[in-house]
Amino acid sequence: MKLAPNSIAIQNIPMLTFNGVETSIARFDLLHPIVSGNKWFKLKYYIEEAIKYQKNCIASFGGTYSNHIVALAFVCKENGLRSVGIIRGDCTTALSPTLAQAKEFGMELIFTSRTKYNEKESIKNEFNNPNWYWVNEGGYGIIGAKGATEMLTYTSKDNSAIICAVGTGTMMAGLINQSRPYQTVTGISVLKNNFSIANEITNLLSDSAKNKPFNMLHEYHFGGYAKTNKQLLDFMNHLWEKEKIPTDIVYTGKMVFAVDQLIQNNYFKKGTKLTIIHSGGLQGNCSLPKGSLLF
Ligand SMILES: *Cc1c(COP(=O)(O)O)cnc(C)c1O
Repeated sequence: MKLAPNSIAIQNIPMLTFNGVETSIARFDLLHPIVSGNKWFKLKYYIEEAIKYQKNCIASFGGTYSNHIVALAFVCKENGLRSVGIIRGDCTTALSPTLAQAKEFGMELIFTSRTKYNEKESIKNEFNNPNWYWVNEGGYGIIGAKGATEMLTYTSKDNSAIICAVGTGTMMAGLINQSRPYQTVTGISVLKNNFSIANEITNLLSDSAKNKPFNMLHEYHFGGYAKTNKQLLDFMNHLWEKEKIPTDIVYTGKMVFAVDQLIQNNYFKKGTKLTIIHSGGLQGNCSLPKGSLLF
């Protein structure tokens, strides 16, 4: 894939180092300004496969503030491919900053009613273009997980606990695939009551990781996908003031909030060295009124 990543940083977090837990964060948000965090890894092998099969266009699905959509638009441009985004909802008002950017990178945006959006197979059949390569919403799939498998090589081997935000679970599957026997991966589900997610992750695990235990926590969605409240925004601002770590309301803000609560509740054994995966993408914050966040 053409698109070189920047280097990332491993940053200690004094604010989240207490109760016998030593916490650091792997700043994958620094990997690339647009193809941020896990998206670079998740898209990598889809792009390679599309090129291998001599497709000239990649099509995928996403919402108004989708990190996946804008990342895909950029990565396609860099690799000489067309891109099409099937967008949930009607285009009634001006484009969101996220979609405006995707369009600027050459993506063709096709707005679809919410009901129709859920019928993904019928949308694919409708377009039925042999030159298009389809990527699932959020990059879900084994090929996405294969790319995400490489993320753990950037983190410290000494750390016994790894925690990440979970949307489709593709990144988490990649992390579990690569984790060592003494490491446990915990996921914070950002969707409400999405109890099928553990199975969806297991379906992406490699044979050697199929029986590896992992933890999925469902208590930190703040009311549902992209829902937010003052408590979350206050926490994200506090994290920024103390540690200069920017997070987003959809994924990483909720996940780091969860880490703070979990350490307070002695969820992690004393002596645990914890790696937080900062999976990037701050697009969700564009949905907030101006001035809500300090960064
Ligand atoms: C897309 C995204 C996720 C979710 O990744 P999945 O592999 O779908 O679980 C998490 N964090 C950020 C910042 C993202 O953009």
